[in-house]
Parts: sequence; C-alpha cells; structure tokens
Amino acid sequence: MCGEVGVLQTSGVIEWRSSGLSTVMMKQIVNKIIRGGARYLPQNKTKPLVTYRENIVQICRVCNDVTHPFQEAYGKFWYHCPNCDFLQSEVSRLLLSALNKGQGLGAGTGVGGGGYREYWISKLLHEELGLSRILLYGTGNTPTFQKLYEEGVDVWGCDISADLVADRKERYRERFFDAREFPQLRFDVIIAVEVLEHLLTPMKIFKLFSEHLTSDGMVAGTTDFYEGGDISEHIYVKSPLHISYWSKQSLQSAASSIGRFVSLFKLECPGSVYPDEKFGVLWPRKRVFFLYSEKFTDYFRNLAERYQILPIDKP
Ligand SMILES: [Zn+2]
Repeated sequence: MCGEVGVLQTSGVIEWRSSGLSTVMMKQIVNKIIRGGARYLPQNKTKPLVTYRENIVQICRVCNDVTHPFQEAYGKFWYHCPNCDFLQSEVSRLLLSALNKGQGLGAGTGVGGGGYREYWISKLLHEELGLSRILLYGTGNTPTFQKLYEEGVDVWGCDISADLVADRKERYRERFFDAREFPQLRFDVIIAVEVLEHLLTPMKIFKLFSEHLTSDGMVAGTTDFYEGGDISEHIYVKSPLHISYWSKQSLQSAASSIGRFVSLFKLECPGSVYPDEKFGVLWPRKRVFFLYSEKFTDYFRNLAERYQILPIDKP
C-alpha cells in the first residue's frame, strides 16, 4: 500500500513510518491539509447579512417571482421584484406581531392621516355611480364611518385593532367588525386608504376582497407608488409598519388576479394638516387607485379627462 504517510497515534502525534518523504515534503502536505480545512471557516466577517441575503431566496408577495436584495432604508431591508417592480421589506417576528395588533385608536389620525380621503372617495363613488354598500377596510380611528353613517349611507367598517373594534361595536354593532372575521356580505366598494403598504400577505387579502365584492364591485384607496430609484430618502418607508411599496405594475398584477383594471390619480392635499405644497414634498408619489370591472372602463377614462389631479383637498 503506497501513499501511507503517517498513522495517528493515541497521543495525537503523527509518527512518520514510510520512508522516502523529506521533512519539506511532509510540511507541504500538512500545510495543504490545513489550507483545505480553512474553506470551512467563515471568510467574510464584515458583511455577514449581505452575504446571507445574497444566498437566500425571497419570493415576491404579489407575483411569486424571485426578488433580489435591494437596499436598506430607515432600518429595514428591502427586496425588489424585477417582474412587477414591487418592493417588500424583511419582517421580523416582532414586527409581524406589531402588524397584527394594528395601530389601535391612533390609526389614521396623524399628520397626513387618510380620513378625508376615505370620505371623498366614498362620496364620489356613491354619488356618481350609485355604489351604495361601502366597506371601509382598515379604517382606523378616522371619523369617516360615523359621518357616512349619519348621512344614511349603507356603510360598514372593519379594522384589526382589538380596542378599536370593541369601541365601534358598542355603537354600531355588526356594522363594524374585526377584519379577520368578515360577515357573509358582498359590497359594492371596498375602500382601503393607507392600508396596502401594511399587508404581509397581499394576495390573500385581494382574494378576500374578491369573495366579498358584488360582480362589478370595486376596490379603491390610496398608497404611495414606487417609481424606481433609491428609496433611502423616501419618507413613506420610514414608518415601521410600512412593509410593502407598491408599483403600478404590482397593483395591476394584483388587480388582474381578481378580474379588475387599474386607474391611478394624483391628488391635491388629501386630509393633511400641511399646506398643499408641503404635502407634495413629503408624499410626491401618493396616488388614489381604483380597481374596477370592465363595466366602469368608460367612467374612469372620463374621470381622467375631467381631472388630471383629483380635487381631494383637506376639509
Ligand atoms: Zn413581483
């Protein structure tokens, strides 16, 4: 048997038996063994997470294509989908727990809160298209529900914050429910203002919407839309609970999965305490979206001719 260069003794010392190997050769062999083992040691200690992110696969939460690590912004790391241009952030268990709790009684009430936007969209669709049964999805603590209710609109509301739902149930009973416990009802329109960016499983929610819409039922709302480029200074992703950054393409992908078309509109100064100019600076990519069936194609073409910018102004 050739090639035997040593035998490991119980003491751990290698005793060289075979002849013909010089000390230099033996050193070379030992060094080779050590170098071979080095590949199992961590090589790059400076950017372990980047290496990790480049080696795992994150699937797009909208179109199921493979995303790529994109960038960090405001403490969250984002992945980009090259197929639908959707951006999604990593979600820790802690963040998931916060998302599931909702924002409680503080939801929708802060600077730029969406209350007036909900009201304006509801009135537009109610008055111009006669859509009468309206669901405010994830309405938070905005006054919209109460205002529409007092006006006699067939309005329904839901949210995921336990304290908020309990409070509303006392006053409006079954008309205000937990968003995870939909009643057996179909709505003419589901309005989701400043909601889509919070969804970890958006396609599950779109399916839910579809199951609770009338045959020509509509989905409408607002969110900011990603239009490309670096997001490190996009204030919209600063909110810890914003984990999705939609693009027009990704919304189209979601809409087509429930048989709807998409129209996007700019808006003036929707329900913000800031003057118009400041609103535009802070949220330049804010858009109103409408997801509608073929029946309303002409209406939305017409609406786009009437308004380049929807006149949603603060009340
Ligand atoms: Zn995608």
